Amino acid sequence: LEAQLFRAQRLESIGTLASGIAHDLNNILTPILAGAQLLPLKFPDADERTRHLLEILEINARRGADLVRQVLSFARGVEGKRITLQLRHIIVEVAKILKETFPKSIEISTDVPQDLWMVSGDSTQLHQVLMNLCVNARDAMPNGGTLSISAENLLIDENYARMNLEAKEGPYIVITVSDTGVGIPKEMLDRIFEPFFTTKDVGQGTGLGLSTVLGIIKSHKGFVNVYSEPGSGTSFKVYLPAVEGMETLSPEDLPPQTGHGE
Ligand code: ADP
Repeated sequence: LEAQLFRAQRLESIGTLASGIAHDLNNILTPILAGAQLLPLKFPDADERTRHLLEILEINARRGADLVRQVLSFARGVEGKRITLQLRHIIVEVAKILKETFPKSIEISTDVPQDLWMVSGDSTQLHQVLMNLCVNARDAMPNGGTLSISAENLLIDENYARMNLEAKEGPYIVITVSDTGVGIPKEMLDRIFEPFFTTKDVGQGTGLGLSTVLGIIKSHKGFVNVYSEPGSGTSFKVYLPAVEGMETLSPEDLPPQTGHGE
């Protein structure tokens, strides 16, 4: 428990530090970007080399501004909307995107029961959580492999809740995203959720994917576990508090809503 608390505090202070820096950086980048955009207009006759330099300046200032935006939105822990939703729809949608955009060498499999409980959440944010986990899974399998997404209902009991600071007794949905990729070395597992922690090349990764995942899941009162075997693969398990039983209702069973066709 102490380790969990320590980790939570550490992540929080990194987040605070990061957003402070991002704020200042934003103020620095704004005039640089404005200048880079304005100068070519003021000097339309500038020579090729100067125009090229200004272009590079603008591209990079824009890149910096994008990064700052990502950090700020991550650190703010955007609240998001809350509706009661079926995660199955989100998983199906994500799987469809993956099948269209991921290399053919990666097999995508999904396993989601029809009677999956509902969760109260922001569908855009939960979509982002799944995408971030899947993009990491893809990057972990440069030579192909299997990416599986599954979900199941789970009743967390008193004992489990006592062992895990973040869990509460009650119904949860567990989403598992597994890959057969390179895995994560044990000594790295503690750090992967830190903002800016990345093992990817510059330009390939910001190190904000998993910290965003954690931020979103925390704001949904859920938690995340990771299991990894270097050389054979990784599983991320996302736990979200569920609204038990709702899914068995068909639309006809729901109370009539105002404006719904009379
Ligand atoms: P990024 O993807 O930009 O590096 P993330 O926060 O999403 O940032 O991930 C941080 C690091 O965690 C990655 O650089 C990688 O080393 C490790 N990682 C995350 N997911 C996986 C995975 N499925 N398999 C192997 N390593 C992973």
